[in-house]
Amino acid sequence: MIDTLKTTKELLKRYNMIAKKSFGQNFLVDDGILESISNTAVLNKEDLIIEIGPGLGNLTYYLKEKCYLLLFEIDKRMIEVLNYRFKDEKNIKLLNSDILKVNIDEEIDKLEKEVGRKFGSVKVIANLPYYITSPILFKLLQESKKVEEIVVMVQNEVADRILAKPCNKDYGVLSIMVDYLADSKKEIIVPSTSFIPMPNVTSAVIKITKRKKYDIQDEKVFVELVHKAFANRRKKMINSLEINGFLNMDKEKLNNIFERFELSASVRAEELDTDKYVKIANYIASNII
Ligand code: SAM
Repeated sequence: MIDTLKTTKELLKRYNMIAKKSFGQNFLVDDGILESISNTAVLNKEDLIIEIGPGLGNLTYYLKEKCYLLLFEIDKRMIEVLNYRFKDEKNIKLLNSDILKVNIDEEIDKLEKEVGRKFGSVKVIANLPYYITSPILFKLLQESKKVEEIVVMVQNEVADRILAKPCNKDYGVLSIMVDYLADSKKEIIVPSTSFIPMPNVTSAVIKITKRKKYDIQDEKVFVELVHKAFANRRKKMINSLEINGFLNMDKEKLNNIFERFELSASVRAEELDTDKYVKIANYIASNII
């Protein structure tokens, strides 16, 4: 049985390293939680796990027996440690890359050619760098067609925003942007004492499962509608859309749309659910622009 706290301290000492704040490095050292995360996704041997930011390999260690792993790590120093720690593993592909700059689906294609077989399902399991949680999630949800499930550690407060329902203070752009593409569930709450160095916040592991529930005619219109509606969330939604120049629509056009959907002129962005945003965006996409 591994003692990850001890291993982490030893690796940091041996490589004379300290965690880099600028890369969001907080190493997870609680073996109970590492094991729970590794068991959160249902995996088959022929699947592929993508791990973003493996760091010293603490989570990788728990995942390595499960199926093939594709690791993206930005910090060269970690690459040296990972190469040493997993030198005997045949089922790991390690890339020294910034996840935000790679085309994930192309990397999966390349890897399939290299190993000479197609993977079953593709899942992401990661303890994410918190400073870029949202762009990473949007990339995985919107850009990648191959990633089916995402099990990630995020700040607990971000997990609450993802899972929030209408009329809740946490409900906003992030909730709708994830909800239109996926179902989400909070799996584990993780105290800051589970990390080295300790972050200032409580964390949570969430499982995000992609599913097709909505047909969106023009994604740009939908995304713009949601962003502009919430841009001034304390104002009435119609005013927020007008002030922020939503598709350059004047008040009259906006009033017509609100009437058509039987929305009061005083409704606020946080009162509408994803379904309503999709319907309004689809109406605009097919009738107005
Ligand atoms: N997985 C390790 C663990 O659980 O102990 C480390 C997690 S740490 C919170 C985040 C990791 O993401 C660090 O190793 C950091 O270097 C890496 N990272 C930060 N930004 C990245 C990026 N843009 N692309 C890939 N990795 C990144």
